[in-house]
Amino acid sequence: MIRRNLLIAIAAMAIVVPAASGQEDGEKKFRAVCSTTQVADFTREIGGDRWQVDCVLAPGQDPHIYEVKPGDSRMVAEADICVQNGWHLEGDDWMLNLAKDANKPLVTCVTGVKALDFDEDGTIVEDPHAWLSPINAAIYVRNITEGLKKIDPDNSAEYDARADYYVTQLRSLHGWIQKEVNSIPRAKRILISHHDAFHYFASTYGFESAAPAGWSTGDEVGAGITPQRRAQVVESIRSYKVKAIFVETTINPEVVRQIAKDAGVRVAGALYADSMGPEGSVAETYFGMMRENVIKIVGGLK
Ligand SMILES: [Zn+2]
Repeated sequence: MIRRNLLIAIAAMAIVVPAASGQEDGEKKFRAVCSTTQVADFTREIGGDRWQVDCVLAPGQDPHIYEVKPGDSRMVAEADICVQNGWHLEGDDWMLNLAKDANKPLVTCVTGVKALDFDEDGTIVEDPHAWLSPINAAIYVRNITEGLKKIDPDNSAEYDARADYYVTQLRSLHGWIQKEVNSIPRAKRILISHHDAFHYFASTYGFESAAPAGWSTGDEVGAGITPQRRAQVVESIRSYKVKAIFVETTINPEVVRQIAKDAGVRVAGALYADSMGPEGSVAETYFGMMRENVIKIVGGLK
């Protein structure tokens, strides 16, 4: 009997401990399911301890070509809200469909961002990589904040306060990036990586950007590697005397390495474009990944 009572006591503790470690006893956490590591990071920052935030993509996974797994639907079924990037970053709209199928509210982070467009033989494609400018990241944060407030209006002031603080930090990051890139002469601000992820970064900080693959690593209109684009990139590297080009952490580096060889330039590291770094790495947060990118870009090009 003593042993049985002890087991009951331990079982009771196991139930009590997780609730006590989060917030007030017994208060259930809200749950958000996010598509990409960046939007999950923003959501964690705004939701604080009141939210459990899960991410469909693991660090290093490519959102353009991701295929949904049964576990993703199960995770979304438990969610109070879903959060996606939008503008087809999520390939065939896999996050939109997951949310729709489970009848869950969905925040689309690019809402309100001024799109940079690609004209692909008359088809206009909105470039989805808007978070790579901190000015746009602030719009993402505000959209997520509004989404969380709708689910938990009682704590709206708290979410607004976290958003205000985060946006202040984004402004500081923007100032720091401007200062850093100013050490690269204008003529040398040419950013070449695997796919066209850096247009927003480039337009904010005065770079030209080019890539052998189009706006997506998948096979959507105007996406993927073409021999013409590859040849243009090699030509640009030579004619603009670009010192270095970059691979990306979510993509096999072989194509860029071969281009670097053909054009006679070096590869100056792997940039974080479509994903943040793994847990425990310096790039496991948005601020960390942006800082790493800028340090690599400045080091490679100036
Ligand atoms: Zn991308």
